[in-house]
Amino acid sequence: MNKNLIGDAAQAPVLVVGAGIMGAGIAQVAAQAGHPVSLYDVRPGAAQDALAKLQISLAALVAKGKMPANAVADLLARITPVADLQAAARSSLVVEAIVENTEAKRALWQQLEAIVDADCVLASNTSSISITAMAQGLRYPGRLVGMHFFNPVPLMKLVEVVSGLHTAPQVADAVFALAQRWGKVAVHARSTPGFIVNRIARPYYAEALALLHERSTTPVVLDTCLKAIGFRMGPCELMDLIGHDTNFAVTQSVYQANFYDKRYVPSLLQRELVDGGLLGRKSGRGIYDYAEGAAKPQLAVAPTTDLPARSGVQLHGGGTRMDAWAQQLMAAGVAFSHDPQSDWTGLSTPTLQLRQTDGRTASSLGAEVAVFDMAFAPEGSRVLAWAPSVRASATCASEAHAWLAALGYQPQQVADQPALLVGRTVAMLINEAADAVLQGVCTIDGANQAMKLGVNYPAGPFDWLAAWSAQGVIDVLQALDTHYAGERYRVSPWLRQQAWGQLGGA
Ligand code: NAD
Repeated sequence: MNKNLIGDAAQAPVLVVGAGIMGAGIAQVAAQAGHPVSLYDVRPGAAQDALAKLQISLAALVAKGKMPANAVADLLARITPVADLQAAARSSLVVEAIVENTEAKRALWQQLEAIVDADCVLASNTSSISITAMAQGLRYPGRLVGMHFFNPVPLMKLVEVVSGLHTAPQVADAVFALAQRWGKVAVHARSTPGFIVNRIARPYYAEALALLHERSTTPVVLDTCLKAIGFRMGPCELMDLIGHDTNFAVTQSVYQANFYDKRYVPSLLQRELVDGGLLGRKSGRGIYDYAEGAAKPQLAVAPTTDLPARSGVQLHGGGTRMDAWAQQLMAAGVAFSHDPQSDWTGLSTPTLQLRQTDGRTASSLGAEVAVFDMAFAPEGSRVLAWAPSVRASATCASEAHAWLAALGYQPQQVADQPALLVGRTVAMLINEAADAVLQGVCTIDGANQAMKLGVNYPAGPFDWLAAWSAQGVIDVLQALDTHYAGERYRVSPWLRQQAWGQLGGA
């Protein structure tokens, strides 16, 4: 394989095909690392336009003192717009960022194989097309690899290095090392639908849409509760930003590519948004309304109250949340007992069980029961979803609310469904990551890195698992499966293996 690419890469000539948003970013990053870069686009003038835009954005960085003027001049001098692919015949690496269409990409590779040397590496920035399928028909299919950047390319650290069945391991390793030299964090992925990030992220959107579809809660409650565990954006505002057309298309492609596996079934609610042109921010309305003067949805904020004066108060279970509650009760002078060995977590009084969700609904646990959502450290804000049993008396429900408010939360009442909002979403993200690892799509570390760097998750799925337990996640998924029945919540065999392993013994 290409010695320049594997060894002394800095001088290796790179050809970027497609001068759109991704191609321009890839050209910038390659040039910044010192490569001479040729930039080609089928649309005449597009490569020059991309370079002109880059000039403007880099000049702004110079003005802000974020980049020295001579470094910018050097970088720009390394990028040459070319009007003919033939001009880049000496390239060591071609990165393709053209339209997301298998036939167009295959045609490009076949055209390029007639131009570049036999050892030139061909890398595709596709988000969804199979690398195995794309390589079919190439003279040297082993040199084709996925090099999946994230938008905006200069800022996003992640590169998924995607291997298809044909990809030679040394090509994937060379591109992995190259991405690192370009200042990126590379992770290996096997070519399967959605690769790592676009696959593992599906439940973040899907569970939110399912909850909205059955009117369990409101978008603002959903978004706020997920931001409370560290997500920068809630699922509803994030889908509005991505655009429902794009988000729906990715979900559909993952669903179809998995032979219509019900786990990935798209949402009717989202389809309606797409069909109605309510695409999100870019169209002025999606889940939220962005029109000028539109009312901003607000959370209902309950006034803080004193802790209810009660006898017979007991705390159940251990962990940081119960430790904090114990401190608060003590500080407020409320007499209570604490059973850290209890098989549930929360607080009870003679008239109420207020339990942290373990997946079971409050209604399945009794009448005078309410459940509240899970927390994953750090508890970023105090917004907390909770639900009373459908058989709870009004007094019981208001007592549950009063306790949560007095303990410093902004309680948000939602419908009583398994694992509420955070527990359900995180369990499904872990489950999807577990299957990806089971199927050899990525490693545990690769999944964690990919989600933190590709979509800015506050933690990787296996970080959450480490703070929870495989059995705890299985319990939630099984409760969801019992509640909804179907294939969507089937437990990853990988999680079962982990749970068996944690049982210990022979
Ligand atoms: P874009 O529409 O901004 O740019 C595509 C460019 O390719 C256009 O300038 C177009 O003229 C050119 N082009 C189309 N067919 C061509 C051909 N046959 N030869 C040469 N040039 C051709 O698209 P984009 O958002 O930059 O996406 C490009 C690729 O990157 C797609 O495969 C997409 O799935 C992938 N991708 C996009 C994102 C993203 O967030 N936009 C993220 C990761 C990967």
